[in-house]
Amino acid sequence: MSNRQTVDREIKKFMKDVRKRNPHEPEFHQAVEEVVESVMPYVLDRDDLRQARILERMTEPDRVVIFRVSWEDDDGNVRVHRAWRVQFNNAIGPYKGGLRFHPQVDLSVLKFLGFEQVLKNSLTGLPMGGAKGGANFNPKGKSPHEIMRFCHSLMVELHRHIGEDTDVPAGDIGVGHREISYLFGMYKRMENRFAGILTGKGLSFGGSLVRKEATGYGSVYFMKNMLEKQGESLQGKTCSVSGSGNVAIYTIEKLLHEGATVVTASDSSGFVYDKNGIDEEKLAWIKNLKEVRYGRISEYAEHFDGAEFHEGKTPWSVPADLAFPSATQNELEEEDAKMLLKNGLRGVSEGANMPCTRAAVSLFHDAKILFGPAKAANAGGVAVSGLEQSQNALRISWSRAQVDRRLQGIMKDIHDSCVEYGNDGNGWVDYVKGANLAGFVKVANAMLAYGIV
Ligand code: NDP
Repeated sequence: MSNRQTVDREIKKFMKDVRKRNPHEPEFHQAVEEVVESVMPYVLDRDDLRQARILERMTEPDRVVIFRVSWEDDDGNVRVHRAWRVQFNNAIGPYKGGLRFHPQVDLSVLKFLGFEQVLKNSLTGLPMGGAKGGANFNPKGKSPHEIMRFCHSLMVELHRHIGEDTDVPAGDIGVGHREISYLFGMYKRMENRFAGILTGKGLSFGGSLVRKEATGYGSVYFMKNMLEKQGESLQGKTCSVSGSGNVAIYTIEKLLHEGATVVTASDSSGFVYDKNGIDEEKLAWIKNLKEVRYGRISEYAEHFDGAEFHEGKTPWSVPADLAFPSATQNELEEEDAKMLLKNGLRGVSEGANMPCTRAAVSLFHDAKILFGPAKAANAGGVAVSGLEQSQNALRISWSRAQVDRRLQGIMKDIHDSCVEYGNDGNGWVDYVKGANLAGFVKVANAMLAYGIV
């Protein structure tokens, strides 16, 4: 066994090199460091992995495609954006990961997401490599026609880099059902093929039941598994949720099914606190607001008595038993964690990718509360995307109950893998370490088997 000093020295050396090779990529450094801290002791104990420099190879993407997306807005102005596809690692299956449209998208963000995706996809037990892509395009305020023209233009380039056995993108922030449909329509036209090259498709053209709900439902199933291990349940727990997009909406829905009370939702302009709880009827109203009208969450407080809107704030000042950060990266910081813990927080399930800063995670660990890290807790989305690929390949559709049963099974397996690799032997489970190590070992062994490629 390597001693702690050696491990710390090797982590420091490794991260110095990562920073040097990837300057100005803070999100990518943050994601790599978290994983390396978990896996370094294991790597140091395996000569084969060290000699093959598996960790160095796993932190270098297989390839990055960068391209221009030109399109014309409704006033006839030509607009120019930049898009990326980071094909990170296909050791255990074709590349798979979402597309994000957001003004803050850059290479650092996409490399962090692509790297995380490799380990997350490995954890699902399905044969999927990891990738991520997107564009620095802000869909907010754009007309449906503008969104369509942008998606079509993006696919004119992206189509040559994807395929059902090569790389299968999906949605992410700013890319929902509407955008996936535009992208798929253009792919089909250009290639003259109807193939499962994107997931999150509409139900009438190859989509899977429960895909829309999968990330949110999966995040709740993961929390349920953690609680059950402690002999507890979600029944009667007060929960705070951030975001009001795809992940947040279906997190709230599943929490209601499980008998929990949800008191918050948010978007980038602020959060709403509803002391009476968001019930089924209010959730239906939020779905219409966000999935049909593309409106702002502040309208909720104008519509429902007893609800308050807090502009420019995140929901973490509200007392809750459980927190489900489901909006974006680094949205829950050290001070938020302190406040949540002071108010009696018992568990966190990361619906978004890397929503908690490293300082916040460290406080949660010190307090020994339940903490489900993103790559485990939000893997339900990509898992059902994998099931969508299987249905496309078989040219069949499974029922809602069949897909949901598989999703629950996958989330339970992920939970149990985290326990196996993250159990400290005294009843405490470090789910971060467990998820990182369980995801890593499978990919590392596959890379080793291929030789030096
Ligand atoms: P959506 O675009 O549907 O929703 C995103 C939500 O987060 C919106 O409410 C948005 O508010 C809010 N948000 C975005 N950026 C910020 C910001 N900088 N500050 C505060 N709020 C912000 O995305 P998803 O729900 O699909 O994704 C949410 C998270 O979950 C992301 O981290 C994504 O990577 C992750 N994820 C998603 C999966 C999926 O299946 N969809 C799968 C696995 C992970 P506004 O509308 O004002 O921008």
